[in-house]
Amino acid sequence: MASYIFLHAMGSKQMVIQLFMSHTKLDKNFCDRFDIMAARVGVKVFRSEFEKIKSPAWRTIKKAMDASSAMFLLVGKELVKAQEASDEDPKAREEWKHTQNWIAYEIGLACERGIDVWVWCDGVTINFPVPYLNNYVLHGVGSVMRSVIELYSEGESVPLGVWGREVRCAYKRCKATYGLHSKVAIDGEVTCPTCLKTYTFPEGHLLHWKKTE
Ligand SMILES: [Zn+2]
Repeated sequence: MASYIFLHAMGSKQMVIQLFMSHTKLDKNFCDRFDIMAARVGVKVFRSEFEKIKSPAWRTIKKAMDASSAMFLLVGKELVKAQEASDEDPKAREEWKHTQNWIAYEIGLACERGIDVWVWCDGVTINFPVPYLNNYVLHGVGSVMRSVIELYSEGESVPLGVWGREVRCAYKRCKATYGLHSKVAIDGEVTCPTCLKTYTFPEGHLLHWKKTE
């Protein structure tokens, strides 16, 4: 029995927690900050530009998602710009289609596995629709990001319904539901990442929250 416990403890000690980063490498600063916070708490981040992606790419990505505890779609200003540029410029459109296809594939994999899917915006308004997510952050790379990454390092997750922060998109044809981990002022507006429509919070959201975002 004692040896079994010993082996078990060894096994769990060796297990590295990994988070999957979905992003554009052009948002370097934002992605680096996420990476640094994860490294501080001993969590590995799968970030495609730093990994060897063997062909076919879908298989490498799937394996990485299978080994991850959550997926984080990091929406920085370059990701938003890429979508905007694709309206005008054919070359940018092709690149953006490629990026967007991979994001959609990654969200599908994460949803299928039942792991948390975070849409984490760096103070920008998301401008492309995300079919599924269960956690949403409008801005903030401060203590909120750190405490979320720490949770995963402890083997926890953030399913819908915890902490009483979930909101539901006000549009009947959408009704997407997600935990919203950002303050919203009274009568403040939020863009729904699933339908991209804006809806209002007459009573605000997390107004008494003291975390620095
Ligand atoms: Zn919506």
